[in-house]
Amino acid sequence: MKPLQILNLEPEGYCDSAKSIIENIGKVDYRLLNRNQLKTVLPKYDILIVRLKHQIDKEILELTDRLKIIVTATTGLDHIDLEYATKNNVAVLSLKGELEFLDSVQATAEHTWAILLSLIRNIPQAFSSVKNNTWERDKYKGIELHGKTLGLIGYGRIGSKIAKYGKSFGMKINIYDPYSDREMTGYNKLPMLSDLLITSDIISIHVPLDKNTQRLIGQDELTLLSPTNIIINTSRGEIIDEQALVNALKSKQIAGAALDVIHNERDQNSINTNVLIEYSKTNSNLIITPHISGATYESMEKTEVFMANKLSDFVRAESTLSG
Ligand code: NAD
Repeated sequence: MKPLQILNLEPEGYCDSAKSIIENIGKVDYRLLNRNQLKTVLPKYDILIVRLKHQIDKEILELTDRLKIIVTATTGLDHIDLEYATKNNVAVLSLKGELEFLDSVQATAEHTWAILLSLIRNIPQAFSSVKNNTWERDKYKGIELHGKTLGLIGYGRIGSKIAKYGKSFGMKINIYDPYSDREMTGYNKLPMLSDLLITSDIISIHVPLDKNTQRLIGQDELTLLSPTNIIINTSRGEIIDEQALVNALKSKQIAGAALDVIHNERDQNSINTNVLIEYSKTNSNLIITPHISGATYESMEKTEVFMANKLSDFVRAESTLSG
């Protein structure tokens, strides 16, 4: 039998232990390709390994009838056309739903807390000023978390970790998540998004991007907020209407925002013209990091090895079935 052909499209930093697992499954090519190059070579492969660099949409998938498995070490799956993949018998193996394993992965929750603290204590600006040999204590007065209310939109794996951090900082916790059956004792579960927006000081978003959450926070929602409110988003950029957010920041409708995600992150032209990035260049009430919440050495190694083993088990089960 011919060995399975595997394309690892995001080889940078891919850990050795995951490499040795996938190299036991088939012949692996580690290649950094742009979209056009991917289109050319994809038909030669049975298995595709990606993270978030590429949009694996219908236009890409319809170029191959050989591809059988897509592996992505992510929980968000909006970078893959799941409907098309399912219809065409391409299995998508991901971290979604791997609850027990995911509970051990801390990176995104920790980064969410890092950008929250950086924003409210003016850390990026204060450090920049120190690098100019200035020592201005009064200019960088911040706000405290103790006694404030943290509003969580989405109470899944990450939201529930953030609730614990908030609690240990002496915050009250509001939650809006009509679908979660996780334990919420000690927290305030709210029936409507608007209730959460009206009664929380700091709002942090932890929902998947889907047709219900696209532009979940738009102009109408931002109007419910007040000039002391802060928004944190480490989920997906498209969950917030970016122009409405810029307007709210400019007009001081809200105090600030910290983001790890923006619209159309895979398109350099979009990045060049992004209204939030533009605004952040001259205003200190917005900080943005380039989708690095999940990117720690520990979590990436752990997730790569987990997904390599999941692929190995899947391939073995499939061959047992077909053999
Ligand atoms: P999860 O599936 O464990 O939790 C999501 C929660 O959102 C669930 O409890 C669900 O009930 C709730 N939800 C869904 N639709 C909702 C809605 N309309 N209103 C309110 N709640 C809703 O996911 P998670 O692991 O906590 O991750 C959340 C998101 O964070 C992911 O979908 C992914 O897009 C993003 N993420 C980003 C990074 C990063 O590096 N920035 C890393 C990991 C995950």
